[in-house]
Amino acid sequence: MSEPHLARKRFGQNFLSDPNIIRKIIEAIRPAEGDRMVEIGPGLGAMTEPLMARLPHLHVVEIDRDLIARLKEAHSPEKLTIHEGDALKFDFGSLVTDGAPLRVVGNLPYNISTPILFHLADYAERVKDMTFMLQKEVVMRMVAEPGTEEYGRLSVMLQYRFNMGRLFDVPPGAFRPAPKVMSSIVRMVPRPLAECAASDYALLGKIVTAAFGQRRKTLRNTLRDFLDESDYAALALDPGLRGEKLGVDAFVRIANHVAGRAHRPA
Ligand code: SAM
Repeated sequence: MSEPHLARKRFGQNFLSDPNIIRKIIEAIRPAEGDRMVEIGPGLGAMTEPLMARLPHLHVVEIDRDLIARLKEAHSPEKLTIHEGDALKFDFGSLVTDGAPLRVVGNLPYNISTPILFHLADYAERVKDMTFMLQKEVVMRMVAEPGTEEYGRLSVMLQYRFNMGRLFDVPPGAFRPAPKVMSSIVRMVPRPLAECAASDYALLGKIVTAAFGQRRKTLRNTLRDFLDESDYAALALDPGLRGEKLGVDAFVRIANHVAGRAHRPA
């Protein structure tokens, strides 16, 4: 028997320990024989083992060397491929070798939740779906509707790429050690971009960031570097609105208008 693992705060380690919750998460993921799946942060294997029981093969990405050593000891490389290192730097595209889209799952380290979501959004075209446990407060922001307090940059930039739904909440008592906050399971399914694509994704990001930089201010103020009165007229958009009132498609329309104008000959 190896020594008990001491949870490392810097790696956001809160290990799932409630078998009913683990079962519920696995049921929500519904692993199927032909799936190409990667788990981020397998930790002590709470989700890894039931996933492996349903799949011929699983990939995991783990940063903690002690946990990697345990995983190596417990599982053969034929069944489990362990990618050692930081999921924020991991090339998830490297797992899509034969066109089969990737399923991504994980009880994510809460200290890197926003950067990991943005990193994964870059692979949306090669992903089938993603199911994550995150801090409830973050999930509420991800799925928030325009006009609500939670609606912001994270909502717009993720809803641009994914249809998302909060599946259920998980209380602190389901983990060891127990986190201070409530958690939720969220499912993310990539949207077909043809529906409403931004011609310049980086520009969309800048406009959304500016619009939510000062939440209480109107678009006339926050988007002053991007739009003037004639643009508002062309877009049939009220400059007296606040960013929090605009849906994702409205932000895309603004970004495409600005990008198109930049390319017009003077
Ligand atoms: N899946 C396990 C469970 O549910 O019990 C562990 C979840 S724990 C919240 C987060 C896991 O992600 C830990 O195993 C931690 O070491 C790992 N981790 C933290 N930061 C990481 C990173 N940047 N890249 C990859 N794994 C990371």
